[in-house]
Amino acid sequence: MATSGKIGVTTENIFPVIKKFLYSDHEIFLRELVANAVDATQKMKALAASGEFKGELGELQVRVELDEDAKVLKIIDNGIGMTEEEVDKYINQIAFSSAGEFLEKYKDQLSSIIGHFGLGFYSAFMVARKVTIATLSWKDGAKGVKWSCDGSPEYEMEPCDKTDRGTVITLYIDDEEKEYAGKNRIQGLLNKYCKFMPVPVVFGKEQEWKDGKYVDTEKDNIINKIDPLWARKPSELKEEDYMEFYRNLYPMQEDPLFYIHLNVDYPFNLTGILYFPKIKNNVEISRNKIQLYCNQMFVTDSVDNIVPDFLTLLHGVIDSPDIPLNVSRSYLQSDANVKKISTYITKKVADRLEDIFKNEREQWESKWDNLKLFIEYGMLSDEKFCDRAMKFALLKNTDNKYFSIEDYKKAIEAEQTDKDKKVVFLYATDTEAQYSYIEAARAKGYDVLLMDCQLDSHFVNLLETKVENAKFARVDSDSVDNLIAKEEKIRPELSDAEKNDLSEIFRAVMPSENEYYVQADNLGENAAPLLITQSEFMRRYREMSAMGGGMNFYGQMPASYNITVNMQNPLVARIMDAKKAQVKPEDVIPDADKDASEEVKKTVRDAKDAASEAHKAELKSFAESNEILKQISDLALLANGMLKGKALSDFISRSAKVVEDAYLK
Ligand code: ADP
Repeated sequence: MATSGKIGVTTENIFPVIKKFLYSDHEIFLRELVANAVDATQKMKALAASGEFKGELGELQVRVELDEDAKVLKIIDNGIGMTEEEVDKYINQIAFSSAGEFLEKYKDQLSSIIGHFGLGFYSAFMVARKVTIATLSWKDGAKGVKWSCDGSPEYEMEPCDKTDRGTVITLYIDDEEKEYAGKNRIQGLLNKYCKFMPVPVVFGKEQEWKDGKYVDTEKDNIINKIDPLWARKPSELKEEDYMEFYRNLYPMQEDPLFYIHLNVDYPFNLTGILYFPKIKNNVEISRNKIQLYCNQMFVTDSVDNIVPDFLTLLHGVIDSPDIPLNVSRSYLQSDANVKKISTYITKKVADRLEDIFKNEREQWESKWDNLKLFIEYGMLSDEKFCDRAMKFALLKNTDNKYFSIEDYKKAIEAEQTDKDKKVVFLYATDTEAQYSYIEAARAKGYDVLLMDCQLDSHFVNLLETKVENAKFARVDSDSVDNLIAKEEKIRPELSDAEKNDLSEIFRAVMPSENEYYVQADNLGENAAPLLITQSEFMRRYREMSAMGGGMNFYGQMPASYNITVNMQNPLVARIMDAKKAQVKPEDVIPDADKDASEEVKKTVRDAKDAASEAHKAELKSFAESNEILKQISDLALLANGMLKGKALSDFISRSAKVVEDAYLK
């Protein structure tokens, strides 16, 4: 007898609501229906295994059939099927009412809810104007049932003469959704969502090239691989299997460096394979390559909120039925299971890396340059990972030798400890540009690290907080003697007026776009007359704020350099003598009497300013006419790659003349 009734939903207009809210995710209907069909066949297998079902199981599979012209899509399975009572219970009552409850509960945040929760069977109505179910239960004496509903909350149910066990869901695709009646679209969706489902999913026939075109063969086209690598036992698998699986997942990528096979069933269930890709410079392109599955059904490829940020740089697959899918993304992070899973994965990743570091040191070193960015990023963003990685992270020196952080500290401790008992880690960021500074450090018997990675300015800061009694200094940030100061040095004794003059004359010959701090020092008779360096602190902050993006305080400051004048150098002595001879000291104008009138005070102030200006002008013209001063400043600029344009060309003509004078006269 045919029955009809009203589906148990409270909201009369639930269909339009669903269509509207879930607009962007209509495509998941197919995954939901195939997943139901797969479940039904799996249950059948379980019934047979337990002996409850003794009949012929047949070849369990799910078939997807499409009639493009009629716009009809069928999902067919030979699973357990449903009796009339079950259709009534699961479809009329539960499926519909749970969809109703779901919408009621989440209607305010539907768009922010992950697009991959299961509305189950109900999601068919996102793309179909009418849906029918024809089903025959496995149970003895069961009769076929046909159910249909055209999208209003009214359904019809009647007996039918279905004779083979299982369920056929038929979707009459809505005109507005006709993309889902396209073969390529359906094929694409099956590839995306069903590629690893655990029961064969058939869509059309395999094709072959014949007489200049592709034609169907007799063979079913099975779109999935039912036992993907992650679901198999690690002990059965070889390195090559993992690499092949990787190439399958990411056809255009270089082979990964390492992999981990995850496999845990208590206190939560999780399997998966994670790969460490080569990451050279761009962190962003590596992101969001991990695919999340739930019992071999693809869910999403954005796993942020499930694993810590730095792990989203890994590639591979995570499969867990314990990650809740029907909650909003922001809620995920606070879910207890998700927290456990995230901690577990971080720990496993660290375990694996430490293991390679300990047992395959050569490999570890040879792959370090490609792994470094990932590890530094992890250390900077995840405290727990950082503590683990302090053991296995490597430092590379400018001779391309690798050290663990602890070993390196031990190796340099004897030579590179300064008077304050700090071990100074010297580093370069560019071996070409900083060549002369690196050589100067080596000449002293010091070692220089290479820190040329995108994150290194942040990383250096981090290491300073993690390594006890350590200090990092870029080789060109001061003279070697000052970088690792061994004892209190005797500084040149200059009066304030002399210091001021020194500063004026050297700043006068430097490129005007930067700021300079001039200081006198004793670096020895044979050391260079002039050293231009950039303060470690300022440079680091400028770099970090440049990376951080925003225009903040440090990013906006002009570049500033320290100019160290070596007072013991004979050329400097000559310049100072010439200055003494050519520039008379600044006129000393006595202060106004403190009881003097405002007018007198102002006159005195003006006179002082005028004297100072006149003195500055004299120093400037002296500086610009002093050949030695110009020549040594230009050489120092040249050593830093800072001599450009007209200044460079002037330097070349001046030098040519110096050479002529030296050799021809
Ligand atoms: P869920 O799968 O999350 O339970 P659904 O709305 O997708 O929710 O389905 C409701 C119920 O209907 C299922 O739990 C199952 O009992 C039944 N069902 C759906 N599709 C099938 C099918 N192809 N074969 C047998 N039973 C099915």
